[in-house]
Amino acid sequence: MSFTLAIVGRPNVGKSTLFNRLVGKRLALVDDQPGVTRDLREGAARLGDLNFTVIDTAGLEEATDESLQGRMRALTERAVSMADICLFVIDARVGVTSTDRVFAEILRKKNAHVIVAANKAEGNAAEGGVLEAYSLGLGEPLRLSGEHGEGMSDLYSMLLPIS
Ligand code: GDP
Ligand code: MG
Repeated sequence: MSFTLAIVGRPNVGKSTLFNRLVGKRLALVDDQPGVTRDLREGAARLGDLNFTVIDTAGLEEATDESLQGRMRALTERAVSMADICLFVIDARVGVTSTDRVFAEILRKKNAHVIVAANKAEGNAAEGGVLEAYSLGLGEPLRLSGEHGEGMSDLYSMLLPIS
């Protein structure tokens, strides 16, 4: 049985880099329907022998400050409702921000099945951020570096039980 993974989190934490790593050149479709769905990218992901659908929440980068919160909420809720599991990405180099906490609250309210990814965790520069990620109260953070491909086997191990 296959499953759908939604990559959620505030702008610039590395969601699209992760999406591209998982999907490679197999980008299945760009949904260009009007409304919030326009900002969800869906692709066919492969990780080891796992094949699944991955959704990237894009379109937040263009939002102005005052429209960002509403758009984040709408997009994230939509992605969560389409997904079996969510990869909630934070930037471990920056640490947990107030915006990250808003996302954590949305995911909690939606009762989403969540893996917290402390991303940009290559090298030693992100230790503080990885530890801070525990305070989101969504379980043990997964150390990832989407750009360098680190932590992908741990992600595999966490996805295997739901596949
Ligand atoms: P998104 O807005 O969440 O989709 O983030 P992007 O994937 O567009 O990445 C935002 C920025 O973070 C870009 O400059 C990336 O090169 C950088 N980035 C993404 N992943 C990593 C990573 O694992 N480590 C580091 N150091 N930078 C990263
Ligand atoms: Mg993006």
